[in-house]
Amino acid sequence: MKTSHAFAAVLALSLLAPLSRGDADERIRWEPDAAAAFALAASEGKPLLVAFNMDDEVANDEAVRLHYRDPEIVRLSRKLVCLIGSIGDHTDDPGETCPRLGSLTCAQHREVEKEIRRRFIEGNLVEAPQHVLCAPSGEEMFRKAFQMSVPDLKRAMAAALIRAKDGPEARQACLSALRNASESVRALGLVAAYGLEPHPDLAKALRSLARHRSSSVRALAVWALAGQQDPEDEPDFDRFVRSARSPELRELATAAARIHRGEDVPGYANLFGAFFWDRGGDVHLRGSVFY
Ligand SMILES: [Zn+2]
Repeated sequence: MKTSHAFAAVLALSLLAPLSRGDADERIRWEPDAAAAFALAASEGKPLLVAFNMDDEVANDEAVRLHYRDPEIVRLSRKLVCLIGSIGDHTDDPGETCPRLGSLTCAQHREVEKEIRRRFIEGNLVEAPQHVLCAPSGEEMFRKAFQMSVPDLKRAMAAALIRAKDGPEARQACLSALRNASESVRALGLVAAYGLEPHPDLAKALRSLARHRSSSVRALAVWALAGQQDPEDEPDFDRFVRSARSPELRELATAAARIHRGEDVPGYANLFGAFFWDRGGDVHLRGSVFY
């Protein structure tokens, strides 16, 4: 029962632990060479975060200023192999580390840009900022062009991490990695790590998250909780649904239960869309857990 102990520890921390304070100057460490980075990801089994960035545009500047310095994103980024491409030139000294992006020279991020554009962009138009999450094999899992909120980038990175792993030990490692993440990232991690396997600790956590203040966390929790049910034990879920005070939660739970029974639910995408799809329609979490 090692896994459930780890799980209980994660849950306790989720309720009690404030975010640890990181070094304010810490930021994502970008790999200087794209080919070497793809080889590293494959050999170490790490997913990749691939970012496109451009100068003199507010959303790109925000990504550099906020996203790539966010303590949770930085912490998650240490578990991924990270690449950033930019055609900009930010210093007169070609040997100097890029003052805008850090950890590589401007010549290097221009070379990286060429390679990731070749791999991920059709045509000549690069939408930036843009974030692509890839499996360790380099295969794209999902991407978001243009502005992406800090929490959504965290979710995407956490999901990529979990999807890159398999087996109980990997689950435990992923849960440990998510220990200090925000509640929404942790909820995603729990579901991704445990999938829809019935598990008493997960069911308990999901019941608690089903009352979370964030509607997207509630939606995810209820959706996963419905999938936790043993078909022979539907009354348990029915009791939960009846005990839900909010009509929104009852509606979500009822729809989730029907989806898991294989029924067609009109408006399902809208109900769960806040979590599973970005409003722009171009963020998809793929795989057996996410639809
Ligand atoms: Zn630069």
